[in-house]
Amino acid sequence: MNNVGNPRKESALMNTHRFENEVIEYFAPLFGFDPKETWGIVTHSGTDGNMHGMYFGVKYLQSKTKQLPVAYVSDQAHYSIKKLADLQNLELRIIPAAPLGQMDVVAFEKALDPQKPALVVVAIGTTFKGAIDDQPAIAAALRRVKPPAVYTMLDAALFGGYLPFSPYKDIVNRQKLTFDAIAVSGHKFFGFDEPLGLFITTQEVFNSQNPFRVAYLNDAVPTITCSRSALGALKFWWQMTRNGETEYRRQAAYILELAQYQKKRLDEMNYPAWLNPMSNTLFFKRPGDWIMKKWDLAPDQDDRLGGDLAHDILMQHESRKTIDLFITDLKKDVARRRQGRAAGTAASGRAF
Ligand SMILES: *Cc1c(COP(=O)(O)O)cnc(C)c1O
Repeated sequence: MNNVGNPRKESALMNTHRFENEVIEYFAPLFGFDPKETWGIVTHSGTDGNMHGMYFGVKYLQSKTKQLPVAYVSDQAHYSIKKLADLQNLELRIIPAAPLGQMDVVAFEKALDPQKPALVVVAIGTTFKGAIDDQPAIAAALRRVKPPAVYTMLDAALFGGYLPFSPYKDIVNRQKLTFDAIAVSGHKFFGFDEPLGLFITTQEVFNSQNPFRVAYLNDAVPTITCSRSALGALKFWWQMTRNGETEYRRQAAYILELAQYQKKRLDEMNYPAWLNPMSNTLFFKRPGDWIMKKWDLAPDQDDRLGGDLAHDILMQHESRKTIDLFITDLKKDVARRRQGRAAGTAASGRAF
């Protein structure tokens, strides 16, 4: 089996296009897309969704204005956006972010070019700090500066999985906050065992693409990548059919509640920690190396928040029990540091 080209096109080849279309039809309304006015695919990854999102955006804006757009994204956005802008040789304006990770919209407005179409990549959950960019403020800035055309896409790699099933679902609903496309990862919230993702956009954006005719496929292929995983689309279909909204909602509530619990435990010991609204990604002062290793924590650095940081992304496999074990370790670490002993001596390197 192989899913090649446009899944909406009739095909006599061995594929799972029918299942792939049903996955898109299931998720499209959760993001506020009208299934009849929607086009989408099960991608290879969040990055693949971003790639299609940016490429489709460039073509869409070119079809409207005959001009190349300027791309805008915050400095907290995923590095793939920067790579993808580079790949397409786009002018990229990187907008500074506030200490908690949201795009500085005042700086965005100043950076906006009123002469050129704007391709805006909105972060719905930055990778490290779990920050959600302020979409209404971004839209207001765009209305004031009035570039000749605007295309907005959401990079919702992790958060796009759970937000539609949470009380914050309007954040990713284009009926409430307009956007043209969304990219989500399949191996983050959805937990698939291989990289997968969703890319969903409007029929209007899709229609403005100028696909090259591919003789050997006897088709005009709109996708950048040729083959997609037929098994991946089946896995997605299997999971959404088995889980339904009830189970997805339970998982969304579970991880958000865990994040609140961990924040509470850290607050109780006065440990510097931050949790953005709607986020399952807690970040805090970086503990000793032995904890970083034992708990496999990712590092970052921000002088505005006191320097070295680490984060914990609360996912479905975590529990209050794992959090309590972590807090026990962290207390040991704090005590050790207080005693002035070098962290990372005793108990280091033991497998968890
Ligand atoms: C993880 C992540 C990506 C990349 O997703 P992959 O599926 O790993 O390619 C893109 N954007 C954000 C915000 C992410 O957190």
